Amino acid sequence: MATKDERRAQLTDVYREARGCPRCPELASTRTQVVFGAGNADADLMFVGEAPGAKEDEQGVPFVGAAGKLLDQLLREVGLSRSDVFVANVLKCRPPGNRDPLPGEIENCSDYLMRQVELIQPRVICTLGNFSTKLLRGDPTGISRLHGQAEILVIGARAVRLYPLFHPAAALYTRSLLETLQADFARLPALLALDPPEQPEPAATPEPARAERPEIVAALPVPPIAEPDSPGTSAPATTEPPAGENEGPDERQLGLF
Ligand code: URA
Repeated sequence: MATKDERRAQLTDVYREARGCPRCPELASTRTQVVFGAGNADADLMFVGEAPGAKEDEQGVPFVGAAGKLLDQLLREVGLSRSDVFVANVLKCRPPGNRDPLPGEIENCSDYLMRQVELIQPRVICTLGNFSTKLLRGDPTGISRLHGQAEILVIGARAVRLYPLFHPAAALYTRSLLETLQADFARLPALLALDPPEQPEPAATPEPARAERPEIVAALPVPPIAEPDSPGTSAPATTEPPAGENEGPDERQLGLF
């Protein structure tokens, strides 16, 4: 069982590998940089969006454009900030012209996401929009039917509560979607306050997250979301290292807390 520091170091290793990734020749030749993901390396809550846009490609950080500003606002409304969560995307490279990710690109990239889940060990993963929801559920059901309903899934070797949400970009210009997204976000503190999902027996799991495709091993029954006893947000503690300590240039570039 790896320690928190070991998992953080391994996450940095995955980032080093990903930032020179040649798997999708078109994306590798058009990207400014790989947008690996950023945030708390030991977060209880992880968000998975679709793919970097122009601003993210420029800055190397996910969700820094208009949709990212809305994500920040939604987090604030439930007492959380970027330093409490880890934010990643299905694709780590910007598709040219912001076109949809192609199936082959999703397949090429999913191993990085699986390793992120394995190393960060979130209790709750919020998929943002259709691409991440379909990928992590291994099922084509769309976000309109699934948003706001948590289910326990085994992803790679980890049991997590998957909580699909509308993509913030979709809510930017549609008031009713924004209200739905806010209402779904408002249930996050209660979800985070639940006991962590029971983990599968190690012997019964496949080789952790080295699979080329996401491995949804089993769907476990979904307990109802109980209201927490106290109204606290149960925000996961940040693991910010003391300034300058435990943080090389790669970690700084990766934006780990
Ligand atoms: N949309 C996404 O899905 N991801 C980003 O990082 C930015 C916008």
